[in-house]
Amino acid sequence: MDKKYGAYICTGCGIGEALDIEGLTGAASENGMAPKSHEALCSAAGREMIQADIDNDGVNTVVVCACSPRVMKNEFNFGDDKITIRANLREGVAWSLETVTEARGEDVVKEYAQEKAQDYVRMACVQAKKTELPVPFQLETLNKKILVMGGGIAGLTAAKAAADAGSEVTIIEAADKLGGKALGWRKQFPTKAPWTNLEEPTIAEMIAAVEADANITVKTSTEVARIGGAPGAYKVTLKPTGTKTEWDAPAKVGVDEQDAISKGKMEDPNTGLQKYTAVDPAAEDFGAVVLATGWNPADVSEYEHLGYGKLDNVVTNAQFEKLAKEGKVPANVAFIQSPGAEENDNDFPYCNSVTSMVALKQACYVREDNAEGKAYILYQHMRTPGNMEMFYKGAQNNDGIFLTKATVTGVEAEGGGLAVHMKDTLLNEDITLNVDMVVLAAGMIPTTKNKPTINLAYRQGPAFLDLDIFDGYADSHFICFPYETRRTGVYACGGVRKAMNMEETIDDATGAALKAIQCVESADRGVAVHPRSGDGSYPEFFFQRCTQCKRCTEECPFGALDDDEKGTPLPNPTRCRRCGTCMGACPERIIGFKNYNVDMIGSMVKAIEVPDDDEDKLRFMVFACENDAYPALDMAAMRKLPQNALIRVIPVRCLGSMNMVWIKDALSSGMDGVLLLGCKFGDDYQCHFVKGSEIADKRMANIGETLGSLGLEPERCAARQVAINEYDKIGDIINEFVEEVIELGPNPFKGF
Ligand code: SF4
Ligand code: SF4
Repeated sequence: MDKKYGAYICTGCGIGEALDIEGLTGAASENGMAPKSHEALCSAAGREMIQADIDNDGVNTVVVCACSPRVMKNEFNFGDDKITIRANLREGVAWSLETVTEARGEDVVKEYAQEKAQDYVRMACVQAKKTELPVPFQLETLNKKILVMGGGIAGLTAAKAAADAGSEVTIIEAADKLGGKALGWRKQFPTKAPWTNLEEPTIAEMIAAVEADANITVKTSTEVARIGGAPGAYKVTLKPTGTKTEWDAPAKVGVDEQDAISKGKMEDPNTGLQKYTAVDPAAEDFGAVVLATGWNPADVSEYEHLGYGKLDNVVTNAQFEKLAKEGKVPANVAFIQSPGAEENDNDFPYCNSVTSMVALKQACYVREDNAEGKAYILYQHMRTPGNMEMFYKGAQNNDGIFLTKATVTGVEAEGGGLAVHMKDTLLNEDITLNVDMVVLAAGMIPTTKNKPTINLAYRQGPAFLDLDIFDGYADSHFICFPYETRRTGVYACGGVRKAMNMEETIDDATGAALKAIQCVESADRGVAVHPRSGDGSYPEFFFQRCTQCKRCTEECPFGALDDDEKGTPLPNPTRCRRCGTCMGACPERIIGFKNYNVDMIGSMVKAIEVPDDDEDKLRFMVFACENDAYPALDMAAMRKLPQNALIRVIPVRCLGSMNMVWIKDALSSGMDGVLLLGCKFGDDYQCHFVKGSEIADKRMANIGETLGSLGLEPERCAARQVAINEYDKIGDIINEFVEEVIELGPNPFKGF
């Protein structure tokens, strides 16, 4: 588009008091812009001033020098056909002024702040010049039908919710009938006041409602053989349960095997790598997939002292439910919630609030079926969230149910029954219980843990990757965007996503159904789903210069890139979450978005004025992840916490999108250090794009070697992890880095 620029400087919110507006105007005019100022740009009058320029002068690219780009988004939205760029003068400068000290008096603080603000204006002007209006990607044909995998409570609910919202749905179930594990339940947890009474199962009504819905096609004894394509254009092949097809991926794809597939090294002797990427031409069309394949009970046989598999009448909670439904509940039962012995405080793996509540429910069966029955619940932790606390109290008030915190040391056969030896940690006594049966609280393992594959026809392989980050759960981010798996368009709910009770499952499945609908609607509009929902940009490739190195295809956290028959990346834009990791990975720098690309950020870096000969004015580039670090900086500013005046911050979509050439750009411009601020990884993993900051950390190790070879100290570049709520620490993190580099002295290439 032919651009007509309009630049505007806000003098409100303390900006006018902290900064010299004439100086800012000068910085904009260096870039050919003649900014107007206003005392409150976000006010009706301020926006009318901008709108008048749009209407009367044809301005279509607006540079707003005011508050953080994270706020006032609606106020400064002048329509999808306009570009708006923001310079963060308020949080970035005026609200985060350095503290006046004896060493740095008021004049110096003001001078430094002014220089920072002018750089931000220059950077915004350059950004405006380098930004193009995104043109949303449109699929040639789009299908909005939803496939629900799994016919238990989660799948039934998701199917009904999507159908009620007007979607066409196909629900598949591997077993020969709908219902899943709920078919085997004797009773359900309480769902209403007084929250103490077990309820009759409602699964039959749920099945009937699904079977009666004209929008839902039910296919039992059916599994997925193959899922190819992308959101809005999935091609799915179904098969009878248990049968093999040529598309079948290995049942269990281990980390090494998955890695081999993803690197294109695992070639099937008959069909080659195409086995993993080819789509069945006769497949069915779907727009999105709801993964509701549930959970499986954990194996508890490793705890030899508890006798499972060796002693009769030592069963799991899942087995006990079946016995209870058949009316075979003995009179004295011990429910062991934690393995005890050497495990100390630990519960069984994948135990949770549901396994606590199941023990309470099953203890009630003992009392229901035996007038003199006794149930002993031996726990390290009981978890009964929300109204289930009343259920817990009800069980405590039951004369025949005994709850105690205990470390079980062994179970053995004795006198035709079982003896449970334990240390009662409340009474601090060794106790032996004589019971008829022992029930072990086997945890709920998501089906994706042991079977990570859903037979995806993706270049990165048929399975969800990096499941170890979340103990086998397929989420891409538990907290910020539930349901989203690491395969865009596939939405997990119920036990496959998290251990949850029936009510929680119903809520969850409804949410996943809505996410699936949102996904196909977003694909229809050509915009991204979470976390950049509504983003109309997508990565574009200049393939003429592609060396087919495959770094982009391997590093894309969402498997959005396949290969074509020659090995060149084959983008699937509706799978893409717009993180830019591919852009950061590409050594040829041929991947970019219309509004976020290597040249744009590099040019912004080069727009910063770096004094050649003033040792007090070293300059530091900070690339801050827009999801954690940048909000933390803003929050610090809102609390008026000082920010180092020598830094210049550029928000990036994810540290994974950091192309290392930006570091070279900064250092060759004479800047003295470069700091990458990303989210936490490892056990504290928080990345919205799975492992962007971890990837950046690895790339930084390589850049350190490069700097060393150029005679620059590797310490001039660093990556630090910061959580969104660490606004009180982020200033110190930055200052520490700045001090370390100041110790090294100025960049020796400054001025060259
Ligand atoms: S932007 Fe992110 S999700 Fe999209 S193709 Fe690149 S790496 Fe994959
Ligand atoms: S990273 Fe760049 S050069 Fe390598 S395959 Fe991808 S687009 Fe081509």
